[in-house]
Amino acid sequence: FSVSDYLRDHIRTVPDWPAPGVQFRDITPLLQNPRVFRVLIDAFVHRYMAPELRPDVVAGLDARGFILGSVVAYELNVGFVPIRKKGKLPFDTVAETYELEYGSATVELHTDAVQAGQRVLLIDDLIATGGTMMAGKKLLEKLGATVTEGAAIVDLPELGGSARLREGGLKLFTLVEFD
Ligand code: 5GP
Repeated sequence: FSVSDYLRDHIRTVPDWPAPGVQFRDITPLLQNPRVFRVLIDAFVHRYMAPELRPDVVAGLDARGFILGSVVAYELNVGFVPIRKKGKLPFDTVAETYELEYGSATVELHTDAVQAGQRVLLIDDLIATGGTMMAGKKLLEKLGATVTEGAAIVDLPELGGSARLREGGLKLFTLVEFD
């Protein structure tokens, strides 16, 4: 039994969405099937239960990182903090802007979301160019936290994001790769 193959079989590829030429990897079927959802979450939980990898906090990236990150945090018995797209968080925030293929995006984090010195696990559903995860890492580091690892269901290695993140000093754990 290969967890990677099992999960891959439950990811739906939607051609030409959200734009012509893009093959969108849709993870909603993984969540919809309770057995698959459990295999998915357990893959993360088993890894991060280990004392040397257990974080103090889980940070999830807007929006699919919330779905995964909150369940993983709950199972690890640690807190969850959301990293949100600009303009959504009500309290004082730190912000980080990064470049997209067309234009830019800004993500924000509450200034009291993590404490200096805390070890944070950063979770999203997918790594493409790596820009989103790198911005999340920078936000957490602005507050003095250490991102011990970045985790995602899917890596698209051909886009170079995971390689860039690793070069930038971030350890990564992903479960499925697509060309
Ligand atoms: P990056 O910043 O690495 O280029 O893009 C990753 C971000 O965009 C993640 O937050 C992810 O949710 C979203 N994303 C980009 N492409 C896809 C895709 O094909 N499938 C899914 N599920 N998310 C994507």
